[in-house]
Amino acid sequence: MKKATECVQAGWTPAKGEPRALPIYQSTTFKYENSDQMARLFDLEESGYFYSRLQNPTNDAVAAKIAALEGGVAAMLTSSGMAAVFFAAFNICEAGGHFLSACNIYGGAYNLFGVTMKKMGVDCTFFDPDKLTDDEVKALIQPNTKFIFGETISNPGGAVFDIERYAKIAHEAGVPLIIDNTFATPVNCRPIEWGADIVVHSTTKYMDGHASCVGGVIVDSGNFDWLAHADKFPGLCLPDESYHGLTYAKDFGKFAYITKATAQLMRDLGSCQSPQDAYVLNIGLESLHVRMRQHCENAQKVAEWLQTRPEVGWIHFAGLPTDKYYPLYQKYLPKGGCGVIAFGLKGTREEAVKFMDSLKMINIVTHVADVKTCVLHPASHTHRQLSDEQLREAGIAPDLVRLSIGIEDASDIIADLAQALDALQQSK
Ligand SMILES: *Cc1c(COP(=O)(O)O)cnc(C)c1O
Repeated sequence: MKKATECVQAGWTPAKGEPRALPIYQSTTFKYENSDQMARLFDLEESGYFYSRLQNPTNDAVAAKIAALEGGVAAMLTSSGMAAVFFAAFNICEAGGHFLSACNIYGGAYNLFGVTMKKMGVDCTFFDPDKLTDDEVKALIQPNTKFIFGETISNPGGAVFDIERYAKIAHEAGVPLIIDNTFATPVNCRPIEWGADIVVHSTTKYMDGHASCVGGVIVDSGNFDWLAHADKFPGLCLPDESYHGLTYAKDFGKFAYITKATAQLMRDLGSCQSPQDAYVLNIGLESLHVRMRQHCENAQKVAEWLQTRPEVGWIHFAGLPTDKYYPLYQKYLPKGGCGVIAFGLKGTREEAVKFMDSLKMINIVTHVADVKTCVLHPASHTHRQLSDEQLREAGIAPDLVRLSIGIEDASDIIADLAQALDALQQSK
């Protein structure tokens, strides 16, 4: 199926007499005929539902749709994008482990990697994906390095990650590449086709698309050969004593990674998505391909217009031929990137705040990537825990304004921005 068809049709295929719309299995538990059937489920000898923390039919249908969209073999929904990022990482590393991450990533992930996982004994080295040569990146890889992490399009800076290049470096080192594909969505880029092994999303953003539900997902390509690097990944390649000694990579083949994430991490750490939220997410997915087209078309118009305004000091939007990332954009995102534009106004930080406060239709919200155009100043909002130096390290200028372009009529978005810029001029 083509991606547009998968958005609408994949995941839930009702049999005769079953509901056409994806049903919400609002149940924690599932019934079986006898104790032996239950026991086999608990031992992972049979697949089936027994408790919604681990698996639920509504969630599984939505996960299957996203796996199809990304071209993966299996997926698992999580309660948030942060849970997806953490589980994706923690599923293949533990205390004493190490990984590499692009420095220009989502602020929450930056903090998770640099602070919280460090407390768990997992070390992260941040690298600048645009400044280092291949050899310089390889020099950062240690014997205990477990994976490399980057975002297809970085939040909020709009940098495009060279997925193919980093997949090659990771694979030469015998480790997988994990890509956060939240901003591009599989409609615009499928990282697995470029060599990524595992893909994560905050489904809170474009996938849900309506700012309704917080959620996340992990998709596994099934391509990484864990057993070929068994010494690095004991969790997948040695017997799990909490499951009577089964070995994920041997017993579940291409499904090893997601099976372990479900059976072990979801079992022990929770963070499952509710079936109700998965249902809402699925409604969002049904129009993802249509919305992404409009987000990108509108953002292109707004970015080109912003470029003509004398108040705008700089603008990062990979769809502009003048943008530093335009060559990577043409390679990875030929149909469009996303609706997010980062820009800075000539003038002070206070003036940036005044500009945002003058907007009428466009709201200031701690959100991005939904149907309503919104704006945020990371230095005073989402990233306020970071120092100016850390901000710059994360690729975020202190004056950066993040504009998330919705699917309204582009002329109304531009009119609101224009009147706010005019108001700023008049106040000078
Ligand atoms: C928002 C976001 C996250 C975190 O997702 P939540 O759903 O807010 O937990 C992770 N990565 C990226 C790129 C994001 O934009």
